[in-house]
Amino acid sequence: MSSSEDDSKTDSEINSGAKVVRSDAEWRTLLTPQQYQVLREKGTERPFTGLLTENHETGNYHCAACGALLFMSGAKFDSGCGWPSFMIPAGSKAVVEHEDKSHGMRRVEVTCARCGGHLGHVFPDGPRPTGLRYCINSASLSFTREGE
Ligand code: FE
Repeated sequence: MSSSEDDSKTDSEINSGAKVVRSDAEWRTLLTPQQYQVLREKGTERPFTGLLTENHETGNYHCAACGALLFMSGAKFDSGCGWPSFMIPAGSKAVVEHEDKSHGMRRVEVTCARCGGHLGHVFPDGPRPTGLRYCINSASLSFTREGE
């Protein structure tokens, strides 16, 4: 994993607002090829292939690129769509949403607020109470089990 530089920092420090800006060359050395393709080139992993889609353990989901806390297991649900799905981000400033008109669709892209990495999209077909489905690539996430 590439977030080892942040192991000594708390989630609140990581999410305190300081942005992470790196060159493409730096990201290439820090990320696996698949992580780079998803996070930096807005790729999408094939459905039902991600390591965290079926993860039901209690813990936190961090950005695989910068380590920022993005989602918590309590907000994860089984959407059946083939990607990890969450009802709400870990905090109001954890992710940023952008209109995405690529591929002939109108979607809302979700990026990491700290490093700008592409995470996935948010759709208005989630369960109550938010009614939202944050459909996130496993490749963009690093899971930390509770207590670790
Ligand atoms: Fe990030």
